[in-house]
Amino acid sequence: MKMSKLFVQTLREFPSDAEVVSHKMLARAGYIRKLTSGVYNYLPLMWRVLKKVENIVREEMDAAGAQELLMPFVQPKELWEESGRWEAYGRELMRLKDRHDRVMCLGPTHEEIITAIARDGLKSYKQMPVNLYQIQSKFRDEVRPRYGLLRGREFIMKDAYSFDTSEEGLDKEYLNMAEAYKRIFDRCGLETKMVQSDSGAIGGSVSHEFMVITDTDAGENDVFYCECGYAANSNHAVSKLPETVVDGKDYFKETKIIDTPETHSIEELSTFLNIPSTLILKSLVYIVDKKPVMALIRADKTVEETKLMNAVGGIDIRIASAAEIAELMADHGFDAVPGFIGPTGMKDIPVIADETVKDMKNFVVGINKTDKHLVGANLCDLNIEEIRYSDIRLVEAGEFCPECGKPLKVTKGIEVGNIFKLGTKYSKPMNALYLDKNGKSHPYIMGCYGIGISRTAAAAVEAHHDEYGIKWPISIAPYHVVIVPVNIQDKLQMEVAEKMYEDLKKAGVEVVLDDRDERAGVKFKDADLIGFPYRVTVGKTINEGLVEYKIRETGEVEKVTPETAVEHLVEIVKNIK
Ligand code: ATP
Ligand code: MG
Repeated sequence: MKMSKLFVQTLREFPSDAEVVSHKMLARAGYIRKLTSGVYNYLPLMWRVLKKVENIVREEMDAAGAQELLMPFVQPKELWEESGRWEAYGRELMRLKDRHDRVMCLGPTHEEIITAIARDGLKSYKQMPVNLYQIQSKFRDEVRPRYGLLRGREFIMKDAYSFDTSEEGLDKEYLNMAEAYKRIFDRCGLETKMVQSDSGAIGGSVSHEFMVITDTDAGENDVFYCECGYAANSNHAVSKLPETVVDGKDYFKETKIIDTPETHSIEELSTFLNIPSTLILKSLVYIVDKKPVMALIRADKTVEETKLMNAVGGIDIRIASAAEIAELMADHGFDAVPGFIGPTGMKDIPVIADETVKDMKNFVVGINKTDKHLVGANLCDLNIEEIRYSDIRLVEAGEFCPECGKPLKVTKGIEVGNIFKLGTKYSKPMNALYLDKNGKSHPYIMGCYGIGISRTAAAAVEAHHDEYGIKWPISIAPYHVVIVPVNIQDKLQMEVAEKMYEDLKKAGVEVVLDDRDERAGVKFKDADLIGFPYRVTVGKTINEGLVEYKIRETGEVEKVTPETAVEHLVEIVKNIK
């Protein structure tokens, strides 16, 4: 490809709405162009990268025994009603009507469709196990589309679905997919951590995510990990706590209500009473699926919302507003303001207590009276109708690994793929059955396995760049090398450059010849920004028979003959995994 013909316009500046490196660089280097919020054009350079990621995914999925198909992007409401997700999925599901008023949605994922396909054609145990996958655009009306391709509304995903007749079969396929994923990300030049995670709206019991570890904002997930190998998303991580049980007897002689004016925060209360926050029971109100829930936790700890949501079996959670708390108080005959609320008298709403609450003795707690707290309290004093214990605590770095007891570390990660054990979550409600050896019918045991193709490409930029631009891993670079003749008016320079260009092309190396009549500095800048893994500069030294060979990743420069440069590159490209 000649640079003069390549459809790419690099920008002088980063776009103003770009917050993270991959968005900034992909937009500035002419890979993507925003169409509307969370929806991007993949321009020719980007499309080349995406196709390479897709091909790696395709090769490894095929090698792992999966079969590719392609399902429609538009899906009928009826199938989503069968699975129960028409109600459950929430506003990320883009719903629409056709001209006959039939209700449809844009596919955010395809469990319903694949289960219906299986139901029609996969009738006997003899046809299993089977794993079907597709690579396709998905649409999710994300609340906060951001970070360019990392969290778009329309994005490209590989989604695979496995069908088995037993849990053991599913376990085996799950491992098979985990191994394929490791190879995929490895070939894409990405180091990933496989971490335990929450199963979310897709459902199921066990799931893992593949995270690209990054210390930038682009990492939307906190990952807790230990040198022993334990690793989990914060929405799923557990830990052992140091022994911090404090008995309030040392502070309070009796159980009584005392005045605690203006102590709206835990900090104000612990300062006012001169007690550690571990002696305070914190009561928080959340709205789960539009209904209030009270969470209790030892006040030095934080509630993990996903864990709390799962504890009540919901699919949507947020903290209650001051108005909602006021309404809850009024409904129960109180008028306390936040800072003084507590579980006392909370009828008809779930009260979920974190495990940390179990060990608390003679503590301090709000009792739904403004400017008052109960001190020296125990749960039996609180008149709670029903309390349920569950681990709803957000793990913190420095707490101890649940498996080996060493301190946990925390880092940020970009989720590029995940694997779920679904079991019969879809096959049962959708009545998707096969016949076993004895002619008895059972629902399939399913798994599902996703990879964000466009997110993986963007994550590669997050992981591989410098201040000047992208440093693509060669396996997914749009082109392998750029040849830059310094002065296109110089006959010898152009001759050598053109010959190398033809030789490389013939040998299967993907090469761009920067034939533009621009200053060398401009061409070098563009080459760095676009991120060609190699650059060969044909300048004055060609009079001594030498060109400059530069490796983008390391910045290493070498003077070599044009023939040597071509040989090197052919060899490198031959060895791409
Ligand atoms: P997230 O927690 O980041 O929203 P998810 O759990 O909703 O991801 P899945 O439904 O399992 O993701 O989708 C499979 C893969 O699709 C993810 O691992 C991710 O790589 C990709 N993906 C999901 N949502 C988006 C998005 N909005 N933009 C780009 N890629 C996405
Ligand atoms: Mg999501």
